[in-house]
Amino acid sequence: DIEIPESHPRYLSLLTRHRIEEGVEKGITSKQGLIAEGRGEAFDYLLGEETTASADAAERAAAAQLLLAEHPVLSVNGNVAALVPGEMVELAEAVDADLEVNLFNRTEERMRAIADHLREHGAEDVKGLTADGRIPNLDHERAKVDADGIGAADVVLVPLEDGDRAEALAAMGKVEIVVDLNPMSRSAQSAAIPIVDNIIRAVPNVTDHARDLTDATEEEREKIVREFDREAALREAEDAIRSGELD
Ligand code: ATP
Ligand code: MG
Repeated sequence: DIEIPESHPRYLSLLTRHRIEEGVEKGITSKQGLIAEGRGEAFDYLLGEETTASADAAERAAAAQLLLAEHPVLSVNGNVAALVPGEMVELAEAVDADLEVNLFNRTEERMRAIADHLREHGAEDVKGLTADGRIPNLDHERAKVDADGIGAADVVLVPLEDGDRAEALAAMGKVEIVVDLNPMSRSAQSAAIPIVDNIIRAVPNVTDHARDLTDATEEEREKIVREFDREAALREAEDAIRSGELD
């Protein structure tokens, strides 16, 4: 294990890199995942490596939407499993959602390694291995989901999802919450609730909002979702990137 002093100006980015590297070593994260990480880091740098007010509002709307859902599912890929395994388990508990392993480059070994990793972090039931459902309009391997998981979900949280699959899930009529640091990516563009933030900050914050909304009424939760403006959120994220006010 490496030691990164918390005072280091790039602490979070070094920690993130280290976790992804470990994920690759453990067979959880694909090599492609390293490239996705690099892209994410570049955007996070441009966003000042902090949760903007607009991202926080999206995280609150996501919490409200997950609590309102009939059957919410949180999708987990190799980067998500490496970066926030325990945090995803906590969020699933807070909003009573299923966890489903869902990979762009699907291999049975990686599916199993990720499911085991989530169980080591406290998950009880992990979906994704049955793969008896399909997302329409995607090629065979990319289309696989569990029929009683993402297949039956009304609300899905898909962090760091590939653009094609994000679009195909939205086309199935699912309410899609995406976490993606690039507001211009097709994944963010196709989401009902795009969260433009680092998943390391986003997931615990959605959980905090969900806990805060535990006693809220259905009407209060609906109001939060209704007042969330996805176009404004995407525009504000892009503005924050373009403004170049870095610290
Ligand atoms: P598309 O336009 O098809 O969506 P893409 O650029 O999103 O293409 P990928 O590289 O597969 O293609 O997607 C990885 C995405 O995940 C990138 O948009 C990147 O910014 C984002 N990302 C990477 N690491 C993180 C992270 N830690 N938190 C949030 N988003 C991240
Ligand atoms: Mg994308």
